[in-house]
Amino acid sequence: MGRAFSRAALSRSGRRRYNFPMSDCIFCKIAGGEIPAQKVYEDGEMLAFRDISPVAPAHCLLIPKKHIKSLLELEAEDAPLAGRLLHRAQEVARELGCGESGARFVINAGTDGGQTVGHLHIHILGGRALAWPPG
Ligand code: AMP
Repeated sequence: MGRAFSRAALSRSGRRRYNFPMSDCIFCKIAGGEIPAQKVYEDGEMLAFRDISPVAPAHCLLIPKKHIKSLLELEAEDAPLAGRLLHRAQEVARELGCGESGARFVINAGTDGGQTVGHLHIHILGGRALAWPPG
């Protein structure tokens, strides 16, 4: 697995793709079971788990198991997966008890977007009224 990162392919646009598990990616390690997490949903292609530093009574992260660096790196071929992630996000929100009261779904992307973990993830937040706009 040490060579996995170096196998990153080039997309049609010529940008690097990070579609292989990355040995230094914390969310890949959670998906692979190397790092424990409080899982709330898992299937063959995605995983939802409790955020380690919750900012709301309900705060989970939903990730694809495939290493996609950020929403800004999403390729057209991953659009069906992204659609399934969105659908699963609302189901997770319902399971967290936010189906009636509402929830916020956040995807931070890149430095200015506030992304701190370089693996695409959807924050699912709820359990209290959330302020807007973000800082
Ligand atoms: P972002 O800033 O949008 O990239 O969000 C990354 C999120 O990952 C933060 O809310 C962190 O609290 C969360 N996080 C980092 N490490 C872990 C971990 N080991 N288990 C669960 N959540 C984590």
